[in-house]
Amino acid sequence: MDIFQITAQELLDSRGNPTVEATVHLDRRRRVSAMVPSGASTGKYEAVELRDNEPQRYLGKGVLKAVRNINGIIAPALIGFDVTDQRGIDEKMIELDRTANKSNLGANAILAVSIACLRAGAVARGLQFYEYVAEVFGKQANEPYTMPIPLINVLNGGKHAMGSSDIQEYMIVPVGAPTFAEATRWAAETFHELKKIIRERGWPTTVGDEGGYAPPVESNEEPLKLIMEALERVGHTPGEDMALALDLAASEFHEDGKYHLAKDGLKLSSAEMVDLLVEWTLRYPIVSIEDPLDEEDWDGFALLKQKTGNKIQIVGDDLFATNPERVKRGIEAGAANCVLIKANQIGTITETLDTIHLTLKQGLTAIVSHRSGETEMPFEADFSVGTGVGQVKIGSVSRSERVAEYNELMRIERYLGGKAILATYPFTTAVRAGA
Ligand code: PGA
Ligand code: ZN
Repeated sequence: MDIFQITAQELLDSRGNPTVEATVHLDRRRRVSAMVPSGASTGKYEAVELRDNEPQRYLGKGVLKAVRNINGIIAPALIGFDVTDQRGIDEKMIELDRTANKSNLGANAILAVSIACLRAGAVARGLQFYEYVAEVFGKQANEPYTMPIPLINVLNGGKHAMGSSDIQEYMIVPVGAPTFAEATRWAAETFHELKKIIRERGWPTTVGDEGGYAPPVESNEEPLKLIMEALERVGHTPGEDMALALDLAASEFHEDGKYHLAKDGLKLSSAEMVDLLVEWTLRYPIVSIEDPLDEEDWDGFALLKQKTGNKIQIVGDDLFATNPERVKRGIEAGAANCVLIKANQIGTITETLDTIHLTLKQGLTAIVSHRSGETEMPFEADFSVGTGVGQVKIGSVSRSERVAEYNELMRIERYLGGKAILATYPFTTAVRAGA
């Protein structure tokens, strides 16, 4: 089915900032839309989100230029393309943009069209969105679907919640859950128990950008203790039922070669930062650590991976920026064993899928991830099931833009019935391994 028309509009994301929506028209009646998310702790190597920089509109954050690029440049070039030719569509937009970082047309403009085409392709093929993602990704028809294990953010800090921890995200991982729906229930129950604990300390129970609580903790270790208490109260065995995960987003507090942990009054070298994290992995059931170090600190990543014996998942987010060249460099440097996958870091669906293929082929794990600025349209749910990567990071079990993804995953699991299996978590904890 051919693309009849493409249009675009400026709408708002979950933080109240403008974002781009693209609509692919298959004929005069049928149209399919997609909105793009936006990061706050954005990596240096990400594709460029085009903003208007006109201070009188949305404090400079308007996206009318990106909208005009879709209406005036991308749409005329793509009309008549077979909507299921995802690679052809994405390559055409890359060719039109002519920059390495998509700064000309804007990664927000390009990705909005790329996702809208992917969604419209599913409609054209008469498939569920996750089924069509699987088809485009190249999943074999006889392979069963894998439901992802969620990494659920329960406490926010850093750029997502000023006044809380320096560390950006404290997550729980239901490694022992039998199904995705049970994993979600365990997480929600723990989340609510954590609220009681925070209230008992006399702190506000307000939440940050990704829906986790954002209390004024006294140290960066304190959230780990609070979450452990919540797990015990709910009755989940730490490390067996429920493990912990961190995203430090360390580039955000790396300055002049030091890691500035303001809450702890510490300025640590790379090696000292590694030692602190290794020490935590021995005391808490941590299975995954994302961006533990700065996006340029390849040696620090490699040291942490080596010191944790490759037993714990070391995730590159800002480090890799979903970019195949950086993933290759990371493999050579032994810098991480997992790649965080964010479509808007690279800017097209085809390149995102290529990065996932490369990652898995090289024996690394992958996590399909949201951004801190999200939209009400679920995407990572279907994208994680379709690619079968086994892990998904979609924030807390609060705020509708996050819950929309959990709900969609529970619907998919129910729809698939017995045909879907929940992934087995690929890493254990140092605590459990008795290291
Ligand atoms: P961001 O945060 O979307 O603000 O970059 C998410 C993350 O760091 O994983
Ligand atoms: Zn991150």
